[in-house]
Amino acid sequence: MPAAQQPQWPDAEALAEAAAHLGRTPSLVLPQECDTLRDRLAAVARGEAVILQGGDCAETFDGAGEQQVDAKFRTLNQMAAVIAEAAVAPVVTIGRMAGQYAKPRSGTHETRDGVTLPAYRGDLVNGSVFTAGSRTPQPDRLARAHRVSATTLNLLRALAARSRTEFWTSHEALVLEYERALTRGTPAGPYNLSAHTVWVGERTRQLGGAHIDYVARIRNPIAVKVGPTTTPDDALALVDRLDPDREPGRLTFVARMGADAVRDVLPDLVTKVSAAGSPVIWVCDPMHGNTFVADGGFKTRRLDVIVDELRGFFEVHRALGTHPGGVHTELTGEHVTECLGGTYPVTPTDLPTRYETACDPRLNRSQSLDLAWELADLYAEYQLSRR
Ligand code: PEP
Ligand code: MN
Repeated sequence: MPAAQQPQWPDAEALAEAAAHLGRTPSLVLPQECDTLRDRLAAVARGEAVILQGGDCAETFDGAGEQQVDAKFRTLNQMAAVIAEAAVAPVVTIGRMAGQYAKPRSGTHETRDGVTLPAYRGDLVNGSVFTAGSRTPQPDRLARAHRVSATTLNLLRALAARSRTEFWTSHEALVLEYERALTRGTPAGPYNLSAHTVWVGERTRQLGGAHIDYVARIRNPIAVKVGPTTTPDDALALVDRLDPDREPGRLTFVARMGADAVRDVLPDLVTKVSAAGSPVIWVCDPMHGNTFVADGGFKTRRLDVIVDELRGFFEVHRALGTHPGGVHTELTGEHVTECLGGTYPVTPTDLPTRYETACDPRLNRSQSLDLAWELADLYAEYQLSRR
């Protein structure tokens, strides 16, 4: 099947060897943990819990130190506490962490000052430095990604145990050699044991494509990003393919429509999917439909526009009587200056000060908490409207 967004590995034999090696390395999570997450998500599907998912757009090997991991963990848990109180419901907290090392790109190549090189596809594949050597896909990065994921997860498990919280890991299932090598058979069927849950991105969700075929086969809870060009028929076909048995918690749709489109596009999708008897969870990704390039060439997002998409998402669900299942965001625990606005506002002239992302702009810690308070208000209104 055609696999979109795969790296052009220069040495097929080295890649095969790297994948075989990875196939012999220990898995990172247990199938039973994936099942427990599915139970937690089943509560979201029933309208009794909400999802908070977040982390870097692209994790980096150098950014996986204890201070950064701890700051992201704390930020997510502070957000979860704020949201849980208002929603009067448990929050299922899922990091885009311990495995988010591969990126889809709009162009296969990048040109700077007349020099054209392969695009950076995440630390799993190549280096971000703009030299031919660094940008050449290197198969030994598969094993490095596994090792750094393992150390990150080890720390997350310790932090979760200390704070007596549950914390789950996720990433985009993109580079299929990596995902397949960490997929292990069990009596109940195959599981991707590199994370508790994985998602398929907007650029790889083709029904006849290899990514949808792959996630159809695994037993983990899974998600698919759906953008503004998704038709109700696309959504229904995905439901039939990925959740034929209509199991609550199995499938999440992450709507990333853009603040301009969410109120127009989402209602039809939600209506038709509900009418098909699907218990799919609807989550809002208010980041990826709201990216633009500011003066100076910085890719950025405005917090007020992000919040507007979230509001639109809640308006749609309130009108239809369906459950706003949660949020999927890109954030960090550091005081970066990548997105605009917030209580301690980042202005366009601040962008260069701490613009550190390896890919898309992330909310900083304070903006993340701003977002959590907005969500808290939205859930509080939603609770009132249900009385
Ligand atoms: C992402 O989550 O970083 C991403 C690329 O999103 P999407 O697939 O929705 O464009
Ligand atoms: Mn992103």
